[in-house]
Amino acid sequence: MVFYGFQKTTLIDYPGAIASLLFTGGCNFRCPYCYNPELVETHTVAQYSGEEIITHLKKQKGKIEAVCISGGEPLLYREGLLDFINEVKNLNMKVKLDTNGSLPEWLKKANVDYIAMDIKTSLQKYPQFLNPCENLTEMMSKIRESIDYIINSNIDYEFRTTVVPGLVTESDIEYIATNLIPNAKKYYLNQFRPQITLDESLGNLRPYSNDKLQEMAEICKNLNIDCRVRSGYSTEGNQHKF
Ligand code: SF4
Repeated sequence: MVFYGFQKTTLIDYPGAIASLLFTGGCNFRCPYCYNPELVETHTVAQYSGEEIITHLKKQKGKIEAVCISGGEPLLYREGLLDFINEVKNLNMKVKLDTNGSLPEWLKKANVDYIAMDIKTSLQKYPQFLNPCENLTEMMSKIRESIDYIINSNIDYEFRTTVVPGLVTESDIEYIATNLIPNAKKYYLNQFRPQITLDESLGNLRPYSNDKLQEMAEICKNLNIDCRVRSGYSTEGNQHKF
């Protein structure tokens, strides 16, 4: 298991806990708004081995309460990731996993305490986010499988959508709330922040106003979903830099 980014302390990534934040390299998606294209496309030299991280975390016992694993798509590391998670759990630290939901078979095996799953937009619009080699029908079914697993598990979770004008509309949010995550416990609408993006043309895209995002959140609340707007930060697409 190798990591391409490591933030030793974060107060904002694990709800209610002091955490460390790790980034894996590589992703099977190609979200145009992805904030860390270098992790998705050009990661070549691992910066930290799993052993190094565990050695560091052992020294932090009592100070660091949780570890957040983001990407890229961490579940692409399969057994390597599962083993690493178990090692962290053996240190009595909680684990939060960020995922795009494309690998439910590995998600189900991950011994984590919190799952944050991206829902990019309406399922039929996923081709705009996928690597062209991915099969849409298969992917739609995997996304649904991940959602069902998360909602029916006893694991704490959140779903989240980065609301990028053009890629995510009000009717997409309504579709997600109605068809994908009815009665979900927590759903965040993350504000899009134009900066370094995988598709450079999005760098000049004007985000929706916060009022517009609040209106979208209201649509979800009216459908009995606890939906909040998050305008400050997100590990989805990783606005963190390391
Ligand atoms: S936003 Fe997430 S799922 Fe999309 S390309 Fe970037 S790392 Fe992958």
